[in-house]
Amino acid sequence: MSYQIININTASPDQAKSKVLIIYTGGTFGMAYDVRGVLIPFDFSLILHHLPALRSLQLDLTVISFDQPIDSSNIGPTHWKEIGQIIFDHYADQDGFVVLHGTDTMSFTASALSFMLQGLGKPVVFTGAQLPISEPRSDARENLITALEIASAKTKEGKAMVPEVCLYFDSALLRGNRSRKVESMHFDAFQSENYPALAKAGVAIDYNDAAIHKVSVPKALKLRTRFDTGIAILKLFPGIPNDTIDAILSTKGLRALIIETFGSGNAPSSTWFRQALKTRIEQGLFVVNISQCPGGMVEQGRYETGKWLEEIGVISGRDMTTEAAVTKLMILIGEQGAEKAKELIGKPLAGEMSEQ
Ligand code: ASP
Repeated sequence: MSYQIININTASPDQAKSKVLIIYTGGTFGMAYDVRGVLIPFDFSLILHHLPALRSLQLDLTVISFDQPIDSSNIGPTHWKEIGQIIFDHYADQDGFVVLHGTDTMSFTASALSFMLQGLGKPVVFTGAQLPISEPRSDARENLITALEIASAKTKEGKAMVPEVCLYFDSALLRGNRSRKVESMHFDAFQSENYPALAKAGVAIDYNDAAIHKVSVPKALKLRTRFDTGIAILKLFPGIPNDTIDAILSTKGLRALIIETFGSGNAPSSTWFRQALKTRIEQGLFVVNISQCPGGMVEQGRYETGKWLEEIGVISGRDMTTEAAVTKLMILIGEQGAEKAKELIGKPLAGEMSEQ
């Protein structure tokens, strides 16, 4: 993949409060109308024209822009690796990172990065917009300015205020691997039902210190980039045909399956379904239970309709989002193999699930 590197000097290096690297991948954020009146990705080197307020932040800003900015529906493991590699390569010389990304799959990428960047001690803040920056009512300006403030914020001791992968949108800073896109038209596009906001931006940015991951002794950053995509999601619905379940269970190369269950982790308990799932588990498939409810958690023993899943060896995903489960499975299987992944999937690795 090729990149364009743009330097935006909003302050001379000795005046700058912090050094922040913006990684621009695409999405609605950077769209502008061309001469035909069609929305196309804008030239990021013109950012100061769209956002002159950037100057007053007094930051030393560098932008690495994907040569071809893309809609986030086209982003996947290859791009996650690229973003991870850019952060890794610039980690020592930057105070923080802002990733500009389409909103549609932003929570997946933020979740993936949280598992890829082990030992992270600096902020990686994802943001984007629901309306292009070229629109007068766009949310792009506030989202970017505040994301940059967060990425450069330091504690009294001079440490990064939010040393984790997070997502800033519409006044709320969320942990990346707890976030999900819940709204396609309004500005409040993201939610984190099972974990409190890391900060709220109003007149001031109020950091929720108790919720932010602390780094006592800084560790060397390690980058994990091997993904295995041999996974599937079986989303249950009342009346789901056996053939549909069978088709998913018989997918070639399937190593792990997420079942999206009802309520606190419940599923239809027909003999056919029990037997089909049990057989696949005995053959080596490992199955993770994630609830279709955005809030609350899977408790497999609570109802009869969930108990049988536990009895046949389905692993509870507790309060993990589907986005976190998908990316965690891909990276665990890719890096450590299916057996080890099975052991680790139910354990918190990067704040993506609550401790038991
Ligand atoms: N389709 C766009 C994307 O995800 C939507 C957005 O950026 O808000 O790239």
